[in-house]
This record gives sequence, C-alpha cells and structure tokens, in this order.
Amino acid sequence: MNNYEDVNKHLTSRPKVNLGFFPTPLHKLDKLSAQLGVNLYLKRDDMTGYNLFGGNKIRKLEYLIGDAVAQGCDTVFTFGATQSNHAMQTVTACRRYGLKPILYLVAIVEPGEEDLRANMLIDTILGAEIHIVSLNGKTEAEADELAVELAQKHRETLEQQGHKCYMVPMGGANPLGSAGFISGFVELNRQLEEIGQKADYLFHSTGTGGTLAGLAAGKKLLNSDTSIISINASPKPFEHYSKVAKLATEALTYLGSDQQISEEDLNFDQNYYAPGYEIPNEGSSNAIKLLARTEGLLLDPVYTGKAFSGMLDYIQTRKIPQGSTVVFWHTGGVTALFAEKEIVGDLT
Ligand SMILES: *Cc1c(COP(=O)(O)O)cnc(C)c1O
Repeated sequence: MNNYEDVNKHLTSRPKVNLGFFPTPLHKLDKLSAQLGVNLYLKRDDMTGYNLFGGNKIRKLEYLIGDAVAQGCDTVFTFGATQSNHAMQTVTACRRYGLKPILYLVAIVEPGEEDLRANMLIDTILGAEIHIVSLNGKTEAEADELAVELAQKHRETLEQQGHKCYMVPMGGANPLGSAGFISGFVELNRQLEEIGQKADYLFHSTGTGGTLAGLAAGKKLLNSDTSIISINASPKPFEHYSKVAKLATEALTYLGSDQQISEEDLNFDQNYYAPGYEIPNEGSSNAIKLLARTEGLLLDPVYTGKAFSGMLDYIQTRKIPQGSTVVFWHTGGVTALFAEKEIVGDLT
C-alpha cells in the first residue's frame, strides 16, 4: 500500500493549471486479451482533453502553463514537427489561459499550403502564429536547432516591446513537463489498486523522453515493480539515455523529492520505429488495423501504432509471459490519421 498523501504533497507543491479530464479512463481490452493470452488494459491519454483529441502533452502542460501563468507571461513559444501533437496541444492550452501561442515547426514532411491537414489545420483554426523551418538539406537536428535560434531572436524583439515570453521545449521535455507524468504514474497505480490489479508491464511510445522520464520517476517515488518498456518513435543516440535519466531526477527534485534515477532504471527499445520518424511500417499499420478491427479503437501511425506493434511482438514471442497484466499507455496522436498520405501509410 502506498502512502499517497505523502506523494500528493510533492505533486501539489508547484504551480499547476487545469487542462484536462483526470483521471483518464483505464479499461480492459477483453477480446484482444483473450486472443493474446494476457490481461491487457488501455490507459486512455488520448482522452485527456482539453479539445477532442487529447494526448500525453496535456499532463506536461498543466505544470508548464502553470509556471508560465505564475510568472505573468503573455506569450508562449514552442517547437516540433509541422504535424506535432505537442504543438497543437500547447496552442489549445494557451488559448484556455489567454496566452499568445507562437510555433516554430520543422517541416520533415512539407505541408501543402492549399491543403492544410490534421494538426496543422487545427493550429491554424486556433489562430496560432506559425513559422515553418524547411529542411533544405539540413538534418532534423540542425533544423531543430535553427528553429530555437529563430525563436530566441523573435523573443528578444517581443520582450523589447514589453511582452513577457515563455519557452516550452519540444515535446514539453523538461523537469516541469515530466512532473506531469510522475502524477500520471501515480494516477494509474491508484486506478489499478481500486480494481485490485497490479501491472506487470507498462508499454508506451517514447519520443523526446519527457513521458518516460516522468513514468520512471513515478515508479521510483511509489517504489513500484512494474516493468516500463518504452518503444522509440525515432532513433536516439546513446547519450539520450543519460539525458532522460537526468531529466527524471530533475523532475523529482522539482517536486521536492531527493530520489535519483539512473540509466539502469530506463528500458528503451529502438526495434520498432524503422524506417524513421513519421514514416509508417508494416508492423505499425498491422497493429492499427488489429486494434481497430478487434476492439473498435484507434491508434496513430507515428507513435502509438509503432509502440503497440512492439508490445504485440513482446507478447507473441513470449518475451513477456502469458497471463501477465499489461497496460498500454495510449498517448494520443490520432489526428495523424488525417495527415499527409506519406505519414498515414496504407491502412486499408
Ligand atoms: C509526443 C508523443 C509521444 C512521446 O512522448 P515524449 O514525452 O515526447 O517522449 C508519444 N505519443 C504521442 C502520440 C505523442 O504525441
């Protein structure tokens, strides 16, 4: 039994705004569980709110926008790909709290000016100020750096005019953002306890690592023995793991805990994202169709489809034993089903 009162003291120790509908639902997938021989639960962060499309960034933004509001900011900058779920969720959060949203987005897939789709269309409807950084022969990492440089210059100009600006990093991946997922891990464990269950395994998609850092930190705070398996949506160099461990420790520090996370606490799997970010593969397309046709539920091609395909592989190859209790954390992103054809792939 966990001492939630003690944990709650940490979770409420910092400024936070309300952006979603929590706790998000947790429910069993009965048909798929029977088919796979495990007890499979879905944690529905595709239903966090604040708009119809939800997503995992809402938890992070509760602390990030909370901090922006506490600091008296009037403008928020953030970053991502043109179809970034994080950017879209940040814009909705800004609108709710009266902050001006400015996006610097890298065009991994060039958006059609006459045919705005998915998150680009939603960002436009919400009236975000959008700046596109084209690749033009640059690597994604170089373009990401350029986006931050351009935004810094823009920020300086606005601050000279008397505005107060707040920078949210790509994916909301900083200690404040990860604090939102410490809170998420605690939320999941309370829900499982209420129904007399315990997760042996937790699968989720990882990108910037902010979600993973929060989950790993939450696991440490609750002294939980659930195995968290983080399936990459994009390739990451070895140094990424130590950065995520540091991020997790800093998130704990931010909430007033002195616990530490090391690389051994993290469990990445890079075997399922190929050929690359925003490029579908057969496994992810099959996973999307399987969940849709077995349970009537949707995944996205960029993140959750790939993570779900990884989880199916672990179960089907008996890397995890039959009869295990498995939670798949649905991190959202389903608007990508309405993105450019090259992102969606063949789902027919
Ligand atoms: C951003 C995102 C992720 C990855 O979360 P990180 O915190 O960046 O690792 C996973 N799934 C979806 C749908 C996302 O939008």
